[in-house]
Amino acid sequence: MSDALEIRNLRVAVDGREILKGVNLVVPKGEVHAMMGPNGSGKSTLAQTLMGHPRYEVLEGEVLWKGQNILELSPDERAKLGLFLAFQYPVEIPGVVLGNFLHIAYQAVKGEEIPIGKFNRLLMQKLRLLDMDTSFISRNLNEGFSGGEKKRCEILQLAVLEPEFAVMDETDSGLDIDAVRIVANAVNTIYEQSGGQIGFLIITHYSRILRYIKPLHKVHVMMDGRVVLSGGPELAEELEEKGYDWLEEKLKAEGVLA
Ligand code: ADP
Ligand code: MG
Repeated sequence: MSDALEIRNLRVAVDGREILKGVNLVVPKGEVHAMMGPNGSGKSTLAQTLMGHPRYEVLEGEVLWKGQNILELSPDERAKLGLFLAFQYPVEIPGVVLGNFLHIAYQAVKGEEIPIGKFNRLLMQKLRLLDMDTSFISRNLNEGFSGGEKKRCEILQLAVLEPEFAVMDETDSGLDIDAVRIVANAVNTIYEQSGGQIGFLIITHYSRILRYIKPLHKVHVMMDGRVVLSGGPELAEELEEKGYDWLEEKLKAEGVLA
């Protein structure tokens, strides 16, 4: 059994239109990978499919994790297997206090009861780790949160749920540079705290967050529903400098892209 998240020939349709056209990707546990790509290339479709959003119809392929094809599992079964997805557009849930939500989510994912007092101590420890204000957890989930606060809330969920593999979909988008740095530092801290055991797939249009992610093992590029290029961190820098158009032209000339 391989210790990796392995995506094999994944084809996915939304509303009858094929968006992912055969994605292949292996992210070993303990590695941090980035998935870059222009808008509309299918990055969020990949993230949503990994977490089992019902709108995304799998036409072909499999996603192997811990010896199972997770595409056959419900979203909560995936979470129980240690997978986590941070959303590009977190939902607001009025009337649900963040601290309570995290308590319920923790128990559901871990499959065990934890008394509120004990859980609150864990929560405080995570807030300190991420340098977050304690008042945060008494607020209603994402209600009236700024863009940056929503993203930090996602990061807090990630820290509390302690997954073995996390997918972050544009956790950096719409943030100013200080907030981007905070998100990146949190990722680094969570990686360190896991003893280098956690796997990350960081999905992003821009490379700026990747500059602060340490370590960054690999960078992939998605275009037109496929992974068209993989390389080291220097690939992110190259895309930052030159943009995506030149690469698209180049891949078209090579016949890699239609
Ligand atoms: P990215 O995250 O790389 O910007 P997306 O996966 O969001 O790309 O989108 C890829 C394509 O799929 C786009 O053309 C988009 O319009 C379409 N798409 C994605 N999700 C939906 C949806 N829920 N409904 C309709 N079209 C969608
Ligand atoms: Mg997206």
